[in-house]
Amino acid sequence: LANRAFHPENSIIDVSGVKIGGDHLGLIAGPCSVETYEQVLGIAKTAKASGANLLRGGAFKPRTSPYSFQGLGLEGLEILEAVKKEVGLPIVSELMSPQYLDVFNEKVDLIQIGARNMQNFDLLKQLGQIDRPILLKRGLNATYEEWIMSAEYIMAAGNENVILCERGIRTFETYTRNTLDLQCIPVLRKLTHLPIIIDPSHAGGKWWLVDSMAMAAVAAGADGLMIEVHNNPEAALCDGAQSLKPEKFDNLVRKVSQIAHVV
Ligand code: PEP
Ligand code: MN
Repeated sequence: LANRAFHPENSIIDVSGVKIGGDHLGLIAGPCSVETYEQVLGIAKTAKASGANLLRGGAFKPRTSPYSFQGLGLEGLEILEAVKKEVGLPIVSELMSPQYLDVFNEKVDLIQIGARNMQNFDLLKQLGQIDRPILLKRGLNATYEEWIMSAEYIMAAGNENVILCERGIRTFETYTRNTLDLQCIPVLRKLTHLPIIIDPSHAGGKWWLVDSMAMAAVAAGADGLMIEVHNNPEAALCDGAQSLKPEKFDNLVRKVSQIAHVV
């Protein structure tokens, strides 16, 4: 179902009225984690004014250490919902367990499946039971074939609204958090019709790497970007080092839109 051979046109996925794919660029911005209502509201307002069309925010966080901030859980989703009402941006948030599938289906416009759950096959099969669009992140060490097969799990179970998201892969390099694989854009274009979003924030792990990689991604034909934006990165509860301040995000959108016009 994901195979380009049986579906020559690029798929366009509708996320609560925001189209992604074809000529439509998805610009997802927001904090790594939902911290407070005021925090998310402030970021959402500025990000929207800059041109973001979707708001991200983690409520359930897949942290490496059990002692790190794990997210606000359901309270985080309520904050996102309240901000959505106020600002009008559809929301993107990560689902980690089938336990919360129903509540995500009800409240979240684009359900993110994180890198660590890309091959959680039970979870993928259950996502096929709903028709919410799914943002499927690439696993830390997944090949293109494995990644597409995970999309296939969701599609085969009945939900064809899948968007792929490259967020960097594990290599021998440790200077950057991960290595951003921009070759995935032309390769996936050949193999599949699904839209491709690039997340330079989790790839590089450093805020000053985000601009150049985001521009390169758009120049290479990405269907969208996911960018972590925080009003006070130094005090962020998660991923502050890779988060852009709102004014830096604004500047990035300006640069990216010039390239997007050219492509
Ligand atoms: C995230 O987007 O906040 C996240 C945890 O990403 P990943 O699954 O790519 O690490
Ligand atoms: Mn993050």
